[in-house]
Amino acid sequence: MRKPIIAGNWKMHKTMEEAVDFAEKVKGLVPSNAQVDTVICAPFLFLDRLVKEVSGYNVKIGAQTMHYEEKGAYTGEVSPAALKGIAVSYVIIGHSERREFYNETDESVNKKVLSAFRNGLLPIVCVGESLEQWENGETNEHVGSQVKKALQGLTKEQVKDLIIAYEPIWAIGTGKSSTAEDANKVCEHIRQVIENSFSKEAADSVRIQYGGSVKPENIRTFLSQPNIDGALVGGASLDPDSFLKLLEAS
Ligand code: 13P
Repeated sequence: MRKPIIAGNWKMHKTMEEAVDFAEKVKGLVPSNAQVDTVICAPFLFLDRLVKEVSGYNVKIGAQTMHYEEKGAYTGEVSPAALKGIAVSYVIIGHSERREFYNETDESVNKKVLSAFRNGLLPIVCVGESLEQWENGETNEHVGSQVKKALQGLTKEQVKDLIIAYEPIWAIGTGKSSTAEDANKVCEHIRQVIENSFSKEAADSVRIQYGGSVKPENIRTFLSQPNIDGALVGGASLDPDSFLKLLEAS
């Protein structure tokens, strides 16, 4: 059985004070025996503090991107070693906003995924199609290609451990979510691509999240689908009560 994983992606929201306040409100209310992995992906500046805040609770902390090199002359960047050094557990790689605004490509995504494993971080690899691709029926082809390129060079064992987040770009922050059935079909296709490229065991083990306008009111319909193992949540992860409701509904 795959354990569901609910991750909040705070994007560029909150101040340090608000981040700490959130952690204080939420951490004690996440059951320690929870059948769900809980992750908060916060801006770099808050990560060290948040890791310390949630230490001993059933909440892990993730970054929203990183560089693929361990160190070097890359002004403004953050290395995987630096994240590992403060006990960050997860890192989102290839979010559509990084692809759109920061020149993230399938090639750099692949380098970052490999680097995350080299450095003991678990990647949450984001894939997803544009509205135009969705309307033209190109979703499976596009998403399948993104998955293949992102995971190139990984071992089967590594693929089993990572997380894929299927986020249709047209559903992000728009209030317009994919139907659970449609999202499930794409996630099933992703599993097939992984089976063909790696193994049936890897395809059966890898956890696939849905992301895009997930809310406490609709999360259950996504999680009840056989190929969806969790959610990557933006807007609805910002408020402590809303985040807790997402976990309760899972
Ligand atoms: P929303 O939940 O705000 O649509 O954002 C989804 C997302 O991009 C999570 O990574």
